[in-house]
Amino acid sequence: MSKRKKIVLALLAVLLLVLSLPELLHQNEGNSIAKGSVSNGTLENGWLLPWSGDNFRYFSPLSYFILDRGYAHQKVHQTVVDAYAACETSCPGTQFRIMESARCGGGRLWPHRTHQIGMSVDFMVPKIKNGQQYRWLDRLGVWHYLLSFDEKGRWSEKVTIDFETMGKHILALDDAARKNGLRIKKVILKINLKDDFYATKSGQQLRARGVYFAKSLPNLVDDLHDDHYHVDFKFAN
Ligand SMILES: [Zn+2]
Repeated sequence: MSKRKKIVLALLAVLLLVLSLPELLHQNEGNSIAKGSVSNGTLENGWLLPWSGDNFRYFSPLSYFILDRGYAHQKVHQTVVDAYAACETSCPGTQFRIMESARCGGGRLWPHRTHQIGMSVDFMVPKIKNGQQYRWLDRLGVWHYLLSFDEKGRWSEKVTIDFETMGKHILALDDAARKNGLRIKKVILKINLKDDFYATKSGQQLRARGVYFAKSLPNLVDDLHDDHYHVDFKFAN
C-alpha cells in the first residue's frame, strides 16, 4: 500500500471515530422527555439502545454510530431490553435485530415519517429456511430496508418471514411495555402479510389481546413494511 493510501485510510479511521464519539461516550441516566407527536416532536435525554445483547443486536453500524439513530425514550429502551430477555425463554436460540429508532434529540429521521420522539422502533423480520432461522440477510445493514417479500412473506422459494417468532417478540414487547408504564399504540406490518401473521398461534394471541395493527396504509408506507415491523408505544395514562 502506498504511503498516501495509508494516510487517507488513517484519516478516514479518525473521522469515523470522531463521528462515533457521541455513542461511545453516551451514558444512559435520568428521565427522558418525549415532546409532541411521533410525526412532529423531539426527544430530550434519549437513552441509547444497546448495540448488542445475548440474543439481539442493532442492525447497522452506520445507523447507530454515524447517523446516531439508536436512541429511544428510557421507558421504550427498558421495554426493548426486557422483551428480548423474555424472548430467551419464548424463542430460545433466535437472534433478533433492532432497526432504526430515533436520533438523540429526536426530530425528523429521513425517510421515516414518524420516529421523532423516541416512542417508535423498527424491528427486523426474523426469517426461516427449512425450519431453521436464516440469518444471512440480517447482515445487510441499512440495505435490509430495501428487501422485498411477496404476499406470503417469501423472499425466495425457501426463505420466508418467521411470523410465529415475530408474534412471540411482539407479545413480549406488549408484556414489557405494560410492566414499564407503556402500551403498544400501533404496529405497522404490510397489509397483505397480516393474514399469514394472524394465522400463527402468537398472531392469534395478539389479536385476542387487542394489540392494534394498522388496517390501511398509503401505498408507499405499506410497501416499506415487509422487511420490518414498526412499533409505536404510548404512555399508559
Ligand atoms: Zn418505523
